Amino acid sequence: MNESIELNIAKVQQRIRAAEKKYDRLPNSVALMAVSKTRPATAIRQAVAAGISDIGENYLQEALDKQSQLSDLNICWHFIGPIQSNKTRPIAEHFDWVHSVDRLKIAQRLNDQRPAHLPPLNVCLQLNVSNEDSKSGVALEELAALVASVAPLNNLTLKGVMAIPKPEDGTQGSRQAFKTVSRTVTKLQSTIGKLDTLSMGMSGDMEAAIAEGATIVRVGTDIFGKRQ
Ligand SMILES: *Cc1c(COP(=O)(O)O)cnc(C)c1O
Repeated sequence: MNESIELNIAKVQQRIRAAEKKYDRLPNSVALMAVSKTRPATAIRQAVAAGISDIGENYLQEALDKQSQLSDLNICWHFIGPIQSNKTRPIAEHFDWVHSVDRLKIAQRLNDQRPAHLPPLNVCLQLNVSNEDSKSGVALEELAALVASVAPLNNLTLKGVMAIPKPEDGTQGSRQAFKTVSRTVTKLQSTIGKLDTLSMGMSGDMEAAIAEGATIVRVGTDIFGKRQ
């Protein structure tokens, strides 16, 4: 067992519990996803041995390779990377959650391709909070329309949103962006109902995200170390 992964997870869990307390969140209301892109299957195995059950991956082929090496484990797999429309089928077949849906075409394909023997695919819509043309994610003004068209898709369960603020904006900038996400989703809840997932916060900004209502944080570096 790699002690540093185990120790890192314990430290991250402590930070989450401390932030819940500091920002008046309910105890254990924030879940931890370990983001393992570029890491070998053995590192994921160590994370699972240390209590992690949610794993996030960005690159499809890399994720599928690791999944086949870890099929003996009970892992909840999250796809969090950009999605090309010709890659939706394996995503629909091999993941439990997708956090990076940012257009209807992708949602429709995932819905059509979700195998009948599996439960509906849990989906978050990726929100562009930095208003950069290059960044993926649906614009704030277009979220309500996308929610309205994704919600009726039977083989998907629309859970909430994912947002990734620009790190250059610093902690204050991230916190402001997370607040905007929270408010936007709260407004939508009054019309659309059950959007209970705010997927926001990474190694560098998870406290700010928890302060603004994150329900799941996606942590890579602070668990597995710096990526090459
Ligand atoms: C890589 C990645 C993370 C983890 O980022 P760290 O800064 O390493 O914690 C979280 N979310 C997404 C979408 C990522 O691509």
